[in-house]
Amino acid sequence: MKNRTKEEINEKIVNGEAKILTADELKSKIKNSDEISFDDVDVVTTGTCGIMSGTAAILHIPIADGGSFKKAKKILLNGVEGHVGPCPNEWLGSVDLIIYGTEHSKTNPEYGGGFLFKDLVMGKEINVEVESENGEFFTKKVTLDDMPTAEMIGTRNAFKNYNSFTNPDNEDGITSIFAQPAMKGNLKEYTFSGCGDINPLQNDPQQNVIKSGCKILLNGAEGLILGNGTRSSKDKPNLMLAANMKDMGEKYLGGFKTSEGPEVFDSVAIPIPILDEKIFNNTFLLDKDIPLSISHIKGRHLPLAQIDYSKAWVEGNDERPIFNKDECLNCDECDVKKYCPTNAFKNKKINLEYCFGCGVCHNVCKNRAFKINLGSIKTEINSNNVEIPIVCRESDRKRAKDLALELKDKILKNEFKL
Ligand code: SF4
Ligand code: SF4
Repeated sequence: MKNRTKEEINEKIVNGEAKILTADELKSKIKNSDEISFDDVDVVTTGTCGIMSGTAAILHIPIADGGSFKKAKKILLNGVEGHVGPCPNEWLGSVDLIIYGTEHSKTNPEYGGGFLFKDLVMGKEINVEVESENGEFFTKKVTLDDMPTAEMIGTRNAFKNYNSFTNPDNEDGITSIFAQPAMKGNLKEYTFSGCGDINPLQNDPQQNVIKSGCKILLNGAEGLILGNGTRSSKDKPNLMLAANMKDMGEKYLGGFKTSEGPEVFDSVAIPIPILDEKIFNNTFLLDKDIPLSISHIKGRHLPLAQIDYSKAWVEGNDERPIFNKDECLNCDECDVKKYCPTNAFKNKKINLEYCFGCGVCHNVCKNRAFKINLGSIKTEINSNNVEIPIVCRESDRKRAKDLALELKDKILKNEFKL
């Protein structure tokens, strides 16, 4: 069996001789039946982007002069509550805290931790309110630059494969973090998560190289794998990751409004050094080889059918929608503005930097002014052949591909060593 070491690959990187392919480039070659051998690839850069509920930030924020208060009891950032501690910072006038990406604002039901993280990474000023244990109140406007520490940790990121949902019951309006807006009944709607064959762990299913201590890109920042994440299992592993928020790119993270309130999305890219032919062969799987369960929206424990990712990421699907102004009815209340998970639709324009390609606009617009081919899934549920339109994609393959490409470029420029 042919093999090479990480040191040999790093030497090639330094000499400008490393052969790097993104997972997307590799899959295209495989689908085109191009000849490709172990000698043609030193590293495959993989990626994923989607709602990652385990995301939290660990922050240190100077609030007032030393001696101003003994200990903080409560802290709100733009109305989103953080958890003070663990260090009490006694009499230092500053607060250590952990704040969740899934936390909802106390004042704005459409705002939460994910939106806050994006605002911070964008360099926006945020409003901090602190209540001390003695009932004193302090407020301060700060930016990310004012925080000596701002580390993001993902307790459960980059699931190897995920899940998909529909509602077979005769009941509309089921709210879930997996539906936006609330899901209709009678198998009228289908949503899914997961980036399929470009996902990191799909391309290294036995975790031969994706392990604790490996370097990664988390939302564009160089970070580390701390270990496997919570709820990881042999069949469905996920990763615990960390990186400095100050190095992150604003386009790779943010809030995502669901029918259960705001969630948080992240993007992750991981290099797979092709150390031997076994590792190389593992990167050859395609969407059609990856199983995808369809579950009842009211219970992930109720699988209804099994398909594969080629039915969800339908060949010929569109990555982003097109808005046709001429079809817009200028409704008194625009449902797209209301339901767009990332607030990408404003002033009758799609902000493509914010757009997630989820397709919700196409589904909720009162006049179908948005064109995006999401496709539909065909399967058998309860002994009936059904075809269900895809109404929301909660993972963004475009962002995942962009980050995997960014990682490839960094390696080629000798800015990221294995
Ligand atoms: S719902 Fe559709 S048609 Fe109505 S204002 Fe919004 S974009 Fe225009
Ligand atoms: S696809 Fe439509 S609904 Fe989804 S983020 Fe883009 S503009 Fe918003």
